[in-house]
Amino acid sequence: MAALELNQPVIVLSKAPLGNEAASAWAQGGLAAAIGNNDSPELHLADTLAAGDGLCDPATARRIIEAAPATIETLARLGARFDRTPSGAIALGLEAGHSRNRIVHAYGDSSGREILRAVIQAARHAPHIQILENCAATRLILREGRIAGVLASGRNGPFVLRSSRVVIATGGLGGLYRHTTNPAGAIGQGLVLAARAGAALADLEFVQFHPTALDAGQDPMPLISEAVRGEGAILIDECGTRFMEGHGRAELEPRDIVSRAVWRHMGEGHRTFLDARSALGDRFATRFPAIDALCRAAGIDPARQPIPIRPAAHYHMGGIAVDEAGRTNVPGLWACGEAASTGLHGANRLASNSLLEAAVTGQAVAQDIAGTSAARPAPLVPLATPPAPDATAVRAILSRHAGVLRDVDGLSDAIADLLPLAEGHTDAADPALLGLMMVTAMHRRTESRGGHARTDYPAKSASLADRQILTWETARSAALATPPTSAALQA
Ligand SMILES: Cc1cc2nc3c(=O)[nH]c(=O)nc-3n(C[C@H](O)[C@H](O)[C@H](O)COP(=O)(O)OP(=O)(O)OC[C@H]3O[C@@H](n4cnc5c(N)ncnc54)[C@H](O)[C@@H]3O)c2cc1C
Repeated sequence: MAALELNQPVIVLSKAPLGNEAASAWAQGGLAAAIGNNDSPELHLADTLAAGDGLCDPATARRIIEAAPATIETLARLGARFDRTPSGAIALGLEAGHSRNRIVHAYGDSSGREILRAVIQAARHAPHIQILENCAATRLILREGRIAGVLASGRNGPFVLRSSRVVIATGGLGGLYRHTTNPAGAIGQGLVLAARAGAALADLEFVQFHPTALDAGQDPMPLISEAVRGEGAILIDECGTRFMEGHGRAELEPRDIVSRAVWRHMGEGHRTFLDARSALGDRFATRFPAIDALCRAAGIDPARQPIPIRPAAHYHMGGIAVDEAGRTNVPGLWACGEAASTGLHGANRLASNSLLEAAVTGQAVAQDIAGTSAARPAPLVPLATPPAPDATAVRAILSRHAGVLRDVDGLSDAIADLLPLAEGHTDAADPALLGLMMVTAMHRRTESRGGHARTDYPAKSASLADRQILTWETARSAALATPPTSAALQA
């Protein structure tokens, strides 16, 4: 969206063939926009602020939400074929946390794939866009504190692109966890590049776990949309006990509450399943064709068998701290999409607000860049090529200590384990740097709010109602000052 909007010569670097390895293509639900007759941006904003649990930036949230209707029109003009009612109006679905039907979708549960198809097709036909596929950005190059270029790595080895203006749009970081719904390459590399260049990151402690990822041995884990629970499917354990019965709205509680209930039940030694047999039965395949295919590929018939599920890292509310135009604190560096932290989501993301954010902020970044001019390319000092990042070690540490439920001992252990990796020069260094910044933020937030749940601080604290902003230097200093746990001292 940023490249399309820019209308100046632009190079798009993509680690995989464009559209592969992108969470956007996997979005099932759709994109939220207040375009229904009984809806308004005010209502959409109120729902977003409620989900964000006191940490949204209301002005930013308002701007993005007000831009949603025009963005739907832009996407439709680019060729996205949204589902429509018999009268031709855009059909609107309902998702958890939304007080009105406002989810714009395509082909039922293939919304992201259709939107991305249209956007990529337009980009491939745009004469001002050059697309370099199978090329990963590995470092940002600075000169006198400003962006001067990108070090990248492709099939023929490393290369440098000189540019005084760079946009990071590298998506999320679920791949830093062992159980995730994100593409395997979503390890937050863009956040690492920015942090190493001195950019501030925000809201890093807020990771949204989806309660119902299909637990059948696949990595990444296929997602079973909450729309299935919306149709009446229930959560049961291996004994058939409905373990959320009696808890508020049971299975229809928000994602974070359901995730914590499943996590706790698993912690007590149970296996957990989503049971759609009575609610949907033979209707499953027609109502959820893509999810039915995912289950069948794993050998499960959701009409006749309970679906094994578990929580999985799904969305990162945090990211590179940006202002309303998508600017970071590093001159010449912008960020948008899930890699950015705009303030829209606060402590918890409302379903279907992220595709919206990606589309709107992509355009906003381009509009800001259009008002700047490119600096003359400066000669660059050669940079050493870092090893390709390997998140294996970090996945184990974050999954153990920084998952759905956290406490001071686990987080202190994680800091102690990640610090030497982050300061080293191995292929674990980049993922460890980001992992360390995340657990430092989790350690400092001594409360439970939104997607961040501390068993040792189960209540929300009024004095912690501010966003946490960290640079690599401040996070490293805080990590160095973190006292080891008594268990670590005894060891
Ligand atoms: C299974 C699933 C379902 C979802 N459903 C919904 C939904 O219904 N509605 C909704 O609003 N949100 C949904 N989300 C969240 C939403 O899809 C994402 O937040 C959004 O798509 C992020 O878009 P993005 O452009 O920032 O990142 P992505 O779409 O992930 O794209 C990032 C791109 O950057 C590339 N990249 C990464 N690192 C580098 C590098 N170093 N160099 C070069 N290229 C790099 C990647 O290969 C990828 O192409 C879902 C997410 C998942 C995983």
